[in-house]
Amino acid sequence: MALIVQKYGGTSVGSVERIREVAKRVQSCHRQGHRLVVVVSAMAGETNRLLDLARKVAARPSERESDALVASGEQVSAALLALALQDLGVKASSFLGHQVRISTDSAFGRARIRSINKERLLAALNHGTVAVVAGFQGVDNDDNITTLGRGGSDTTGVALAAALSADLCEIYTDVDGVYTSDPRIVPHARKLDRISFDEMLELSSLGAKVLQIRSVEFAKRYNVPVHVRSSFTDNQGTFVVQEDKPMEDILVSGVAYDRDQAKITLLRVPDRPGLAARLFGPIAGAGIVVDMIIQNASADGTTDLTFTVPRGDFDKALSLVKSQESMIGAHGVATDTNVAKVSIVGLGMRSHAGVAARMFDVLAAEGINIQMISTSEIKISVVVDEKYAELAVRALHDAFVAPRPGDEARQGSTP
Ligand code: ASP
Ligand code: MG
Repeated sequence: MALIVQKYGGTSVGSVERIREVAKRVQSCHRQGHRLVVVVSAMAGETNRLLDLARKVAARPSERESDALVASGEQVSAALLALALQDLGVKASSFLGHQVRISTDSAFGRARIRSINKERLLAALNHGTVAVVAGFQGVDNDDNITTLGRGGSDTTGVALAAALSADLCEIYTDVDGVYTSDPRIVPHARKLDRISFDEMLELSSLGAKVLQIRSVEFAKRYNVPVHVRSSFTDNQGTFVVQEDKPMEDILVSGVAYDRDQAKITLLRVPDRPGLAARLFGPIAGAGIVVDMIIQNASADGTTDLTFTVPRGDFDKALSLVKSQESMIGAHGVATDTNVAKVSIVGLGMRSHAGVAARMFDVLAAEGINIQMISTSEIKISVVVDEKYAELAVRALHDAFVAPRPGDEARQGSTP
């Protein structure tokens, strides 16, 4: 008998039929004697619908009221699932964030969980009741409703699993698991059976949208095994777990891309202490996350400085740069919004030399120019012209991600 936290995403609870299906799945798990906490997202499209409503009544909706509004989406699905379970004869109770008491800071729209009170959930579980918890929401010290950022129900699920020392956290979604790349771009991308927390962290931050990145941070910190799987099939999905020996042999487990990038270059910046600080201080102050930064060695006492930001922050970043340009003494600003970031991720990079060189060879063979490069222990990212992004992803996937044994046999038998 295990304690399991299951989280169902928006499409999994997207209609009354789907909610009934989920109730049946929960019932069969409950019948096996497991203790169950079930976290739900708002029904598919609901959060966007609510945000649109807010924008129709106010030009700039305040964050506190926006959170009170969007949190209602999860309240609806939690109550509906509890009702559907009761209809099947399963004891179930819904809990909102403040009823559990999921305490967060007061950063509306992107709140962080500070602590979770387990008492009420444990009491329910001890009575054989399924606890259905509204995802995405919490409460701050002043009893304001807060939300955890888009995709935040994943984090509710993993955080509850950590707080309750659950044996497993299952994240049910509409894909079968974590793929080696985006199947829409790489048709023979395949589902991974297992992936390490660190690789998943890199993939989430690189734009793979299966799991909210904070949920992976929680899973890693508290060593919560996460099983990402589909609520539409019974297939096994992908286990996100602590790394082990066999994983270290895999050179590249995923190829990711991110089109949401824009590049800004300050030309011929004087090479003096303090200028980078003066430039990036206001950008950070505006809440803009700078990703890659490149500064060349200075030739004639000046150097070009290039960095990337999310495309949505480009205009704001550019106007901040322009306002600093003359003070910094730069000789102009160049920009490019048609860029994409393509990355390979794998634990094996830590112990194998020459991965970067091979990556650059593969791109060169396709005639793709590399504009920027950045690396971490288990990741290499390059910025390329956006129109080559898909080609780059496919070429890198072909070169680095080994085909399954069955696929090899099929390839081998082709005349
Ligand atoms: N309903 C919220 C969203 O759409 C939270 C979630 O689904 O995880 O972002
Ligand atoms: Mg999600």
